[in-house]
Amino acid sequence: MSHFNYQDGVLHAESTSLSDIAAQFGTPTYVYSKAALVENFDSYANACTGRDALVCYAMKANSNLAILDILARRGAGFDIVSGGELLRVLAGGGDPSKVIFSGVGKTVDEMRLALSHDILCFNVESIPELHRLNEVAGSMGQTARVSLRVNPNVDAKTHPYIATGLKANKFGVAFVDALDTYRAAAALPHLEVAGIDCHIGSQLLDDAPLLEALDKLIELIDTLGSEGIVLHHLDIGGGLGIDYGEAGEAAPVAVGDYLGRLFKRIDAWRAERYDGAPIKVIFEPGRSIVGNTGVLLTTVEFLKQGEEKNFCVVDAAMNDLMRPALYQAWMGVQPVVQRDGSANLYDVVGPVCESGDWLARDRILSAQQGDVLAIMSAGAYGLTMSSNYNTRGRAAEVMIDGGQAHLIRQRENPADLFALESLIK
Ligand SMILES: *Cc1c(COP(=O)(O)O)cnc(C)c1O
Repeated sequence: MSHFNYQDGVLHAESTSLSDIAAQFGTPTYVYSKAALVENFDSYANACTGRDALVCYAMKANSNLAILDILARRGAGFDIVSGGELLRVLAGGGDPSKVIFSGVGKTVDEMRLALSHDILCFNVESIPELHRLNEVAGSMGQTARVSLRVNPNVDAKTHPYIATGLKANKFGVAFVDALDTYRAAAALPHLEVAGIDCHIGSQLLDDAPLLEALDKLIELIDTLGSEGIVLHHLDIGGGLGIDYGEAGEAAPVAVGDYLGRLFKRIDAWRAERYDGAPIKVIFEPGRSIVGNTGVLLTTVEFLKQGEEKNFCVVDAAMNDLMRPALYQAWMGVQPVVQRDGSANLYDVVGPVCESGDWLARDRILSAQQGDVLAIMSAGAYGLTMSSNYNTRGRAAEVMIDGGQAHLIRQRENPADLFALESLIK
């Protein structure tokens, strides 16, 4: 169920008018629905009921503390990709014993920080990283639990910038090198080999590539077991897509259906090979938890007629929402207050000095100057990817809970943006 609906011609988040939100907090502003967030997380949690499974929210999708807090209270773990994200988990009330640390370039300081909080597992992506982690853990008198991020070389059939499981990607250990890398890990004194993981890409609408990756991981787990390297968890990554509303695009597989197929396959394998002994299963969803929980509100500044195109110039820009500029991503655009009147074909663009600064292309809108528009399904990789380019403060963030609006991040003040800078003497 969508929590963003028109009521008497006005777009609402739950029972709150987005027109009122724009008037109260200004624009550009990200607005999230708490009910949508809870519903998305619960679709994972419910499919895992009664199993040894952990949903580690990939917080780079949206790391606002209010979101982390809501998810932590529902039992979420977190997939982090930096020391900064670990500090956010702690500030948001998350449990470090449910944190897994992904990423190809972990620094010594980040490893120390994570070890000092005794996180669940490091998802290691290379042999040099294994050696560094072994040294750091040894120097602290600790043992680090590790999983190897294996690159199963399956084609996730998504945008090349968000496909991560192919041979040519920088991520993970090549499937053909995985056995040797596990042997190397098992021989290091300050590491404990705990699991295996993969993450093959993002915005996957079909679960076939994920199930194909699962089969590859299963094959490796069996081979490792026959060498005496017994893994305790299997982490299939994130990647499930959402419906951005683009005409002609396939509907994404439902979370419950995907998890049902995955567990069915895992259960059959465990029954056949391990007398039914279960293995812990970890998920790292990002977009499918937060993507459709948020919209970006923006005000029309000018309607401008170009020689070939009409432009709807709005007050949000690529610095606020980078997905169109970065991935040519299609985002839905809806008027907050529906109006009659002549519609025109527009490119919706921001004020930033780049031709790549567009939010949507070739849209039929009946917008007027001063109207508020909602960029739909902007909850994932929106604010977290935003920047201060053109000395623009980041947007405000508001969380709706029924009829109540909570400011969960203030709009950045431009003076704050140069407060850390200094002149040379
Ligand atoms: C980004 C990322 C995820 C989350 O991906 P989604 O497509 O948002 O679900 C999960 N795992 C890793 C390692 C990632 O880098």
